[in-house]
Amino acid sequence: MIPERVRNIPPFYVMEVLEEAQQLEKHGASVIHLEIGEPDFPTAPHICEAAHQALSGCITRYTHSMGIPELRKSIANYYNRHFDVDVSPEQVIVTSGTSPALMLAFMLLVEQGHNVLMSNPHYACYPNFVTAIGGTTEYVPVNAENGFSLNAENIQMNLNDKTDAILLNTPSNPAGSVMDKKDLKSIAEIEGDIPIVCDEIYQGLTYGKEDHTILEYTDNAIALNGFSKKYCMTGWRLGYMIAPKSYLRVLQKMQQNFFICANSFVQEAGIAALEGPQDHVEKMVETYDMRRKYMLKRLKEIGLGIEYEPDGAFYILANAREYGRNSLELSRDILEKTHVAVTPGIDFGKGAEGYIRFSYANSLENIEEGMNRLEKYLNG
Ligand code: PMP
Repeated sequence: MIPERVRNIPPFYVMEVLEEAQQLEKHGASVIHLEIGEPDFPTAPHICEAAHQALSGCITRYTHSMGIPELRKSIANYYNRHFDVDVSPEQVIVTSGTSPALMLAFMLLVEQGHNVLMSNPHYACYPNFVTAIGGTTEYVPVNAENGFSLNAENIQMNLNDKTDAILLNTPSNPAGSVMDKKDLKSIAEIEGDIPIVCDEIYQGLTYGKEDHTILEYTDNAIALNGFSKKYCMTGWRLGYMIAPKSYLRVLQKMQQNFFICANSFVQEAGIAALEGPQDHVEKMVETYDMRRKYMLKRLKEIGLGIEYEPDGAFYILANAREYGRNSLELSRDILEKTHVAVTPGIDFGKGAEGYIRFSYANSLENIEEGMNRLEKYLNG
């Protein structure tokens, strides 16, 4: 019998929408993809070149479990340069994406039956990681007024003596909100020394707002980040965590046992991403910003509820309750009738039921076509 803690893991609905969309495409449909949380830009040539070179040089063996020293140094420098913090390379653990780093963080911090406090809505997979390792989830209802984000006040109202970690996500998925200095600082000052896990995977993708790391405000935190979004490296599977020194030995032993190490030649490419030219990132951010503005304008004209204008990541969370309270049914119907793929809010928890998440990681041309189709569908 499959144990309950994994048997009941819900599907990652966005992947189900994607798979249904691919099925339609197989039969010749032209689907506009506004569901996927994946950059539509290619990985920059100098990053690919670094991987080619590593492969040509036969860098194909296991590496140190915590990552190759040069990459750990680049990551520490990157955080220190960007945020004026004091991260040492030893605090960096290189992982095969941010997802395994989330797993390691929860395995490290959460006792069986204890909980992780997180916002609702939240990134779809968070609660499922926690459940799989035998923990539970304490949801904090958040809404447009608080930017769909946690703050010291709403956290304090929901903490209990079994809370082993507070999970933050900035810039966030699905709301695209960027937490400001004041909120991060006051969360870091919450009494009780509860460790904070901060998922910073969309760091660098902000529009007119400065982003911050939790490490600016406390040492009692684990920052998680990766190369999937900012460096368009989703398929490469490269991420990392920056952890307090007291956690490192246990994290190292878990990494050795469960994952051995991250992919060797991909780690070489990671150095090129951080140390090489950044102009492709700057251009990409400008392009995302143009698309963000255009999509916001069109969604408002169509009549969807834009309760919060995002300033980070590449998502817009729109209230679609007027068109149907069941977001899964609504997005399936939209896909079927218009061939526009969108993500149902329910993927991100009950707090986003009745909402639809739109990703603008697609060309302006495709976004325009998607919005035209949606307008026809919703407004006849
Ligand atoms: N955190 C968030 C908030 C995400 O949106 C994603 C990817 N969609 C991840 C973590 C996982 O990213 P990866 O494993 O590709 O680094």
